[in-house]
Amino acid sequence: MSHYDFILAGGGSAGLNLAHALLRSPLRDRSLLIVDQDAKDTNDRTWCSWFTGPHPFEPLLHASWDRIRFSGGGYDAVLPLAPYRYAMLRGIDFYNYSRETFAASPHVTWLQGHIESVGDGNVGAQVTVDGRTFTADWAFDSRWDLHDYTSTTAVAAAGLCSARVGRYHYLQQHFLGWEIVVKTPCFDSQTATLFDLRTPQRDDTGWDGMRFMYILPFSERSALVEFTLFSARLLSQADYEAALRDYIRDVLGVGEFCITAKENGVIPMTDQPFPRRASRYVMRTGTRGGRVKASSGFAFFRTVQDSHAIARSLIAHGHPFDIPVPPRRYRLFDSMLLQILYRRGDLAERVFADLFSKNPLDRLLRFLDEEGSLWENLRLMATVPPLPFMSAWLRLKLFNRI
Ligand SMILES: Cc1cc2nc3c(=O)[nH]c(=O)nc-3n(C[C@H](O)[C@H](O)[C@H](O)COP(=O)(O)OP(=O)(O)OC[C@H]3O[C@@H](n4cnc5c(N)ncnc54)[C@H](O)[C@@H]3O)c2cc1C
Repeated sequence: MSHYDFILAGGGSAGLNLAHALLRSPLRDRSLLIVDQDAKDTNDRTWCSWFTGPHPFEPLLHASWDRIRFSGGGYDAVLPLAPYRYAMLRGIDFYNYSRETFAASPHVTWLQGHIESVGDGNVGAQVTVDGRTFTADWAFDSRWDLHDYTSTTAVAAAGLCSARVGRYHYLQQHFLGWEIVVKTPCFDSQTATLFDLRTPQRDDTGWDGMRFMYILPFSERSALVEFTLFSARLLSQADYEAALRDYIRDVLGVGEFCITAKENGVIPMTDQPFPRRASRYVMRTGTRGGRVKASSGFAFFRTVQDSHAIARSLIAHGHPFDIPVPPRRYRLFDSMLLQILYRRGDLAERVFADLFSKNPLDRLLRFLDEEGSLWENLRLMATVPPLPFMSAWLRLKLFNRI
């Protein structure tokens, strides 16, 4: 068979989430081809999200937390999350579950191969995989190659100003995490530390974005400890490792530990627009479709919601493009925050400390989810240092400059 109702070009988070959304909808009997070049048989990442109600993949969750901790800028607090929870889904569990679910459906085909092109054909979409052509009513393209993005940032970094190409900010959320087991209990297994800024915020070259530790405990003696930066430049492997070692020894006060697993990655943080419509019959999804929140790097839950919106649009209109668009002001908020991270890395700690200490947590989470009302957003913006945000706003809106 070479014609399908839907082809999902890319079988990572976006491709698989969309496949699940279609299978859980009245479209479950439509034919579906998922193509990925990777076997998806390793735990190449973990996805954490906050959410209310049951998680869409609740039985697969690896761990969950009822509280979060923020530490930095003179503020140190453990904050109850209710009515939210924060939970971790491991990539490998999601891939295995997806493989089993799709194998049980006669309508789904999962093909491993390199996609050479995705575009419009004579009728509908046309996808070429290792020289073979497949057609579909609709194709959803989530191929994401980080090299395209990092080469853009590298070009920018080689210029006069790093992280600046034309009108948009190009920062990166980059991290190395170690799952460690320690001898002496030191973790609170109910509390995930989203930000611990008790780590040096600058290096020899000065301020460059923001640096923090992110800790996800699994028990009193084991946790994923991740050194994370929001900045333009990546570090050397040795720099990430040194920061982790120093933090575990000096801040956690842990003597001996062993590393049981590692996670590293780079997530784009950019206000560059990602148009959803690639061509008449092709829609971009996932990172390629702009589902990564520019100012936080979170994408998983946004992708889940997007997948259900696409399914609803297909059912209602016969096309996938009628999806909700958040109010435009959220793009401006993202750009202002990126601008501060880019220009005034020295202020980042204070901005985040103000956001966490001067707002109820649910107001902040709704803001990050792009769900708060305008009034609620204004109340939140009133809690951050006004001058840097005014200056960011002026540069962006009035002078059209980064
Ligand atoms: C290590 C890591 C941890 C993260 N943790 C979180 C988190 O905790 N919470 C959160 O919300 N977000 C997180 N993210 C961000 C985001 O949720 C993930 O990157 C997510 O996987 C993005 O989904 P995607 O479908 O766009 O890309 P991917 O999941 O990367 O899927 C893209 C797929 O396209 C395939 N592909 C690419 N090119 C081709 C080609 N030519 N032919 C065939 N296949 C191709 C790739 O093999 C890949 O499987 C994390 C990202 C990383 C890298």
